[in-house]
Amino acid sequence: MSKTRETILEIDLGALEHNYHFMRSKINGDIKFMAVVKAFAYGNDATKIAKKLSKLGVDYFAVAYVDEGVALRKGGIEKPILVLHPQSINFEKIIENCLEPSIYSEFVLREFIKTAEQLDQKNYPIHLKLNTYLNRLGFSEDDLEKVFTKLATTDSIKITGVFSHLAASEDWKEREFTLQQLNLFRKLAFTITEKLGYQPLLHLSNTSAIINYPEAAFHMVRSGIGLYGFGNDPEIDKQLKPIGTLKTIISQIHHLKEGATVGYNRAFKVTEDTKMATIPIGHADGINRQYGNGRAGVYVNGKYAPIIGNVCMDMIMINISGIECEEGDEVIIFGGPQHVTKFAYNGNTISYEVITEHFTTC
Ligand SMILES: *Cc1c(COP(=O)(O)O)cnc(C)c1O
Repeated sequence: MSKTRETILEIDLGALEHNYHFMRSKINGDIKFMAVVKAFAYGNDATKIAKKLSKLGVDYFAVAYVDEGVALRKGGIEKPILVLHPQSINFEKIIENCLEPSIYSEFVLREFIKTAEQLDQKNYPIHLKLNTYLNRLGFSEDDLEKVFTKLATTDSIKITGVFSHLAASEDWKEREFTLQQLNLFRKLAFTITEKLGYQPLLHLSNTSAIINYPEAAFHMVRSGIGLYGFGNDPEIDKQLKPIGTLKTIISQIHHLKEGATVGYNRAFKVTEDTKMATIPIGHADGINRQYGNGRAGVYVNGKYAPIIGNVCMDMIMINISGIECEEGDEVIIFGGPQHVTKFAYNGNTISYEVITEHFTTC
């Protein structure tokens, strides 16, 4: 039992390796694999995760923002890195760090070409982002003619990839919509390929699409959540291994009698003798108020301890009645006996949100 630190996120690189092999096994060997390591590799540690995945043979990485890509380069990552949501203010940095921007609008295309020309670039790799009914980022079918007109004016950039993103690949009720997205992507991507006269990398699938729509893999897939151990499906969850365990320790224990109350707004009222503990993690660390008042709990020495009262900024109080434990003992927020999916469900959210929320404590 570690008593050296208050709150830590333990990362199991062996589990990451297992998940990578599982996801990889779902696609043909000649299809490239892009690991999505945005948001600190979903709240883990992007450089550490990317280093391990590089060794395992991942072909590409994706981040959301330019500075995340710069951090990976500083950490020694040499594989291609796609920046999903670059801002024009950072375009020089993109080129200086050999990052590949997603080009999603005419403004971004114009500005990126300007920077590439200023820096004397030839055939600088970019990925064209298509909007296929998600309506977040990307060119629509009607924009493509203008894109080609603009491209004809320069040899500073080259379309290395063409991609889009699915809205509901994990949801079988939305299968028809997903197939419409897939069909539109196929149509637009093939038109673009024909116009270019060479084959760019086409990529569409995220984790759930890799599993549910093998026909959508094209030349490369993009996986995030699966690598971290979650499959948006109980059957897939069983075959993956969550890589993170968020742990803390008991700060103080109180023995309360009937009539006492716990925490802000006296939200927990003691109705029988209660043993409770205070732990050093709170809503500033992503354990939000929605988990309070018994809606979620943590594990102490293998036993479930519900959160009592309101979640505080840096602390939570838990009911440890009947659990043998002492101050300084380890508490597991998620990982081990506590599956993130269950914790997320209790807080009305999804695994993606739970695991990415713990930057301040890692
Ligand atoms: C985050 C993201 C992914 C990864 O999705 P998962 O469901 O975590 O596999 C893939 N593509 C894009 C464009 C994304 O933003």
